[in-house]
Amino acid sequence: MLRLPAFTYREPTTLAQALRMKAEAGPHGMYVAGGTDLYPNMKRRHQEPTTVISLARIKALHRKPRVDPSTRQRVLSPMMTLTDVAANRTLRKQYPAVATGAEVISTPILRNMGTLGGNLCLDTRCTYLNQSYEWRKAIDFCMKKDGAICWVAPSSPRCWAVQSSDLAPVMAALDAEYVLAGPDGERVVPAGQFYRNDGIDYLSKQADELLTEVRLPALNGWDATYHKLRRRGAFDFPVLGVAAWIRWDGATVAAARIVLGGVASWPQLVPESAAALVGTTLDDPTVEAAAQAAFKPSKPMDNTDFHLSWRKEMTRVWVRRALVELRTRHGRHA
Ligand SMILES: Cc1cc2nc3c(=O)[nH]c(=O)nc-3n(C[C@H](O)[C@H](O)[C@H](O)COP(=O)(O)OP(=O)(O)OC[C@H]3O[C@@H](n4cnc5c(N)ncnc54)[C@H](O)[C@@H]3O)c2cc1C
Ligand code: SF4
Repeated sequence: MLRLPAFTYREPTTLAQALRMKAEAGPHGMYVAGGTDLYPNMKRRHQEPTTVISLARIKALHRKPRVDPSTRQRVLSPMMTLTDVAANRTLRKQYPAVATGAEVISTPILRNMGTLGGNLCLDTRCTYLNQSYEWRKAIDFCMKKDGAICWVAPSSPRCWAVQSSDLAPVMAALDAEYVLAGPDGERVVPAGQFYRNDGIDYLSKQADELLTEVRLPALNGWDATYHKLRRRGAFDFPVLGVAAWIRWDGATVAAARIVLGGVASWPQLVPESAAALVGTTLDDPTVEAAAQAAFKPSKPMDNTDFHLSWRKEMTRVWVRRALVELRTRHGRHA
């Protein structure tokens, strides 16, 4: 059985306390929300904080979903559990991509503990990393933790670990905003700029910054969906995720965003696929053109489940399915 190492556990009740505790702990301190990712990573010794700062008792991170009257954005708190995100009636009706993205994560038990904030700050994953310490030691470790080489691309100077959060591509497609609180105050970052295409340095967030709010854009004629590829119907991380966002002008696509998850170290925007949609009615040839445009830049690496060429091929299929769903839904509402 894998055991947790010894660590100091701290329980702040305010944001200011949490930031102070993180400053005291320095680089060896980490925040924990539901702990469904951090604790398994600590058991495998690829994340090794000696101080863990729990966000569970900070009231400001547990506020009920609300609408900001000035921007009409829907504001979600990061400590919302994935179960609550998936079950929230307003999200299911008005932001179904968000509710679906949460609903397809792992299992009901994990969703009861796992939080929105933890999901959006999720570590990148790799077959050569998410293993016990002894397993990793047997291959002399790798660049992301304790070693020097990347086993996926041995001549590469960078780590290609995979962005594996289901909700991150959804937030990037929606152009949601994240509010971050740090020692220098608050800042707002568009979801698309929160992630980096680097398996080690995968967030633009500073280590001491806290995600305090997720702001979903006001509804104004747009719709979005999320489709996930995985081996089993539950439990498994995405090996491909497609988030598709479309703003309609009558029967015509006025704007679009397609974001791929699970094929790079960040949620990968594919502007060439979105460009194929604008000004069209999303007819079959358009859908095929957009699916083909997403297939080309989709470059999964050999570091997760399934054969990489099949995952690449499935990009085309999953983009097509997502767009057909949006077209059907729009037809029903038109
Ligand atoms: C068996 C299994 C299956 C899984 N399947 C999936 C899946 O299918 N899809 C998927 O997306 N995920 C999956 N996960 C990963 C994970 O459980 C979820 O992503 C979950 O939402 C993480 O939330 P948490 O609150 O438990 O995060 P934690 O483990 O508490 O934290 C994760 C990271 O986020 C940071 N963090 C958390 N909250 C904040 C905040 N407010 N501000 C700043 N940093 C913060 C922590 O410091 C840590 O680095 C799976 C995990 C397991 C063990
Ligand atoms: S992509 Fe390479 S460096 Fe990154 S975790 Fe995998 S093997 Fe390690």
